[in-house]
Amino acid sequence: MRLLLMGPPGAGKGTQAAAIAERFGVPAVSTGDIFRANVAGLTPLGRTARRFMDAGEYVPDEVTNAMVADRLAEADCDAGFLLDGYPRTLQQVTALDEMLERDGAALDAVVLLEADPDELVRRLLLRAQQQGRADDTDAVIRRRLDVYAGETAPLAAEYDGRRLLATVDGLGAVDEVAQRILAALASLSARPVSR
Ligand code: AMP
Repeated sequence: MRLLLMGPPGAGKGTQAAAIAERFGVPAVSTGDIFRANVAGLTPLGRTARRFMDAGEYVPDEVTNAMVADRLAEADCDAGFLLDGYPRTLQQVTALDEMLERDGAALDAVVLLEADPDELVRRLLLRAQQQGRADDTDAVIRRRLDVYAGETAPLAAEYDGRRLLATVDGLGAVDEVAQRILAALASLSARPVSR
């Protein structure tokens, strides 16, 4: 199973990624988590990424693509993976296509988690209190939502055109949303498609 999980900041991607990846027995690969681990470890990658993350901007495509290519080359991703927070730009879509093509692999589905913008801000501010993430401040949250709308939201149309997109309402209890995702994936794979 090769899945992507997309959605605006605060939609609950990380929580759902863990649940869905476990369900399919594949690793959840979160670019945000890998960047944060590198920031915490003071690695060269972390130093580069931090400047962008703290401002609510995307880390440059070349840096992000190279990091994902390395991670997907690890043995645990051979039978599948769930990518959380990647791709986020059209250039990353192309880079991922090339990585998969090299391996003779293809995506099975792309889940888009949707949520009302006011609810997103509310959740992110709550997370700021609970986790103290550096990029969960008011101004940076607003910037991250804008960057998502400009750079990442258009990817949904791209994957919908490939008949891979399942759109799911991210509002509700964690289990409820997870069930919705599984149901959406089941109906997507039951749909007659020409790939
Ligand atoms: P996340 O935890 O997914 O919200 O990601 C946190 C931050 O990491 C983002 O605001 C970006 O600065 C950076 N980041 C994560 N994934 C990507 C990506 N695919 N492309 C560029 N930057 C990313």
